[in-house]
Amino acid sequence: METIDRGLFVPDGNSAYIDSPMPIGYNATISAPHMHGTCLELLKEHLQPGMHALDVGSGTGYLTACFAMMVGPQGRAVGVEHIPELVASSIENVKRSAASSLLNGGSLSLHVADGRQGWPEQAPYDAIHVGAAAEKIPQPLLDQLKPGGRMVIPVGSFFQDLQVVDKKLDGSISIRSETSVRYVPLTSRAAQLQGF
Ligand code: SAH
Repeated sequence: METIDRGLFVPDGNSAYIDSPMPIGYNATISAPHMHGTCLELLKEHLQPGMHALDVGSGTGYLTACFAMMVGPQGRAVGVEHIPELVASSIENVKRSAASSLLNGGSLSLHVADGRQGWPEQAPYDAIHVGAAAEKIPQPLLDQLKPGGRMVIPVGSFFQDLQVVDKKLDGSISIRSETSVRYVPLTSRAAQLQGF
C-alpha cells in the first residue's frame, strides 16, 4: 500500500490519507485504507508472485493496483467494474501510479463488466476480492476460484459479514466470518444508479 499512492486514486479535493471511505461518484465509494489493508492481509498468501487475482467492483482501481504489485509481471491482476466512467478513470489513476508498467505489460487489466459473472478469461484465480456486498456468494465466482484459492467477500444486505471463503484442494468449500462491514451493494448498474 505504501507503493501505491492513494492520493492518485481519490477524487480531487478529498483528503486521501484519512482512514475513511470516500465517495467516488455513481453511488460508489473507495473503501477505507484499513479495509484495503485487512483484505490484503487476508489474501496475501494468495497474492504471491505469478498468481492470478480478481478484484470485483474495482472502483478507483486502488486495490487492483496493489494486487498487481504483489503478483508481479508474471502474475495477473484483473479488475472488473460495471460503471464505464469509473473504469476509464481507474485506468488513468493506475497510469499515474507505480503500477503503470504492469498495466502497459498486460499483467494488470481493468474491464467494464458485471462482476457477478467474474472474468472467466483469466480464471481460475488464486485470490478473489469482492468490493461490494452480495446477498449470497455468486456461483460463477466460486467456480472461478482455484482449488487452494481464497475469496474475500462481504455477504448480507444492510449489515454484512466479511466472509473468507477457502476452496480446498479437493474442491470443497469452507467459509468463516472475519468481521462485520458495510459495503455498497453488488447489484445491477440500473439499481446502483437509481437517484444518482
Ligand atoms: N474497491 C473499490 C471500490 C469499492 S465500491 C475501491 O476501493 O476503489 C464498490 C464498487 O463495486 C463500486 O465501484 C460499484 O460500481 C461496483 N459494483 C457494484 N455492483 C457491481 C457489479 N455487479 N459488477 C461490477 N461492479 C459492481
